[in-house]
Amino acid sequence: SLPPPPAEDISADDIFIAVKTTKKFHRSRLSLLLDTWISRNMQQTYIFTDGEDEELKKKMGSHAINTNCSAAHSRQALSCKMAVEYDKFIESGKKWFCHVDDDNYVNARTLVKLLSQYPHTQDMYIGKPSLDRPIEATERLGDNKMKPVNFWFATGGAGFCVSRGLALKMSPWASGGHFMNTAEKIRLPDDCTVGYIVESVLGVPLTRSNLFHSHLENLQQVSRSEIHKQITLSYGMFENKSNIINLKGAFSVEEDPSRFKSVHCLLYPDTPWCPPQVAF
Ligand code: UDP
Ligand code: MN
Repeated sequence: SLPPPPAEDISADDIFIAVKTTKKFHRSRLSLLLDTWISRNMQQTYIFTDGEDEELKKKMGSHAINTNCSAAHSRQALSCKMAVEYDKFIESGKKWFCHVDDDNYVNARTLVKLLSQYPHTQDMYIGKPSLDRPIEATERLGDNKMKPVNFWFATGGAGFCVSRGLALKMSPWASGGHFMNTAEKIRLPDDCTVGYIVESVLGVPLTRSNLFHSHLENLQQVSRSEIHKQITLSYGMFENKSNIINLKGAFSVEEDPSRFKSVHCLLYPDTPWCPPQVAF
């Protein structure tokens, strides 16, 4: 079937891609992204971290953002970062907010194609749910009252996007210090808090896309012939085994354990460090 016609003619520059990282992963994770997909998307990518890094600043300039959030893996530290991502997006004036982790590869061309299907002024929340049912949470109201709430959320580890129209409506619960207060009200991680604000508070349903991938799923199942169609990819460990996409590419698994270098050479074969194009 033919893809739907674009609702809006957007370009990569209309997208704000927030990458969440932490100082201890600058070398082990972020540098791989800087060498691969970020190098082709400098204008739309913003790095949110928790420590100073002169080298990163030299490379990214004002797109390297030290959130001054704690470097702990606590719920509070992570929602502190999401709050800064949100505020910087609003400030940027761009049409779409997309969030990814530092173990995600982003194919910006397919991301542009997906988002072009929707007007950015409409309420859109797009991603992949991490559970097969809505999450059950408890909202803490004032004076010790509790209220059960159910909602879907897009897993942050697969990446998700929010239209500017929706992001503006989220402001009373997400801007300034409000995001952290909202996260405390339901005591859930940052990505769940986004789902709570969008689905539970604003009544906007999550639009599911199978083109976003986290390492919570079996990445071997991403079909080899369809890798170029995906929007995000990831890598990780599962039960002590590495969980990576199945791609016979430019580099061996030893040289390229995440497979991101091989994916990059598939998508951008003119990259200087990619081997000359042969049939892989
Ligand atoms: N992260 C962070 N602070 C930490 C640990 C992790 O900001 O103290 C970020 C990390 O850079 C990544 C995301 O949180 O973007 C998820 O971390 P990780 O992949 O290690 O854990 P997962 O939740 O995927 O198992
Ligand atoms: Mn991860």
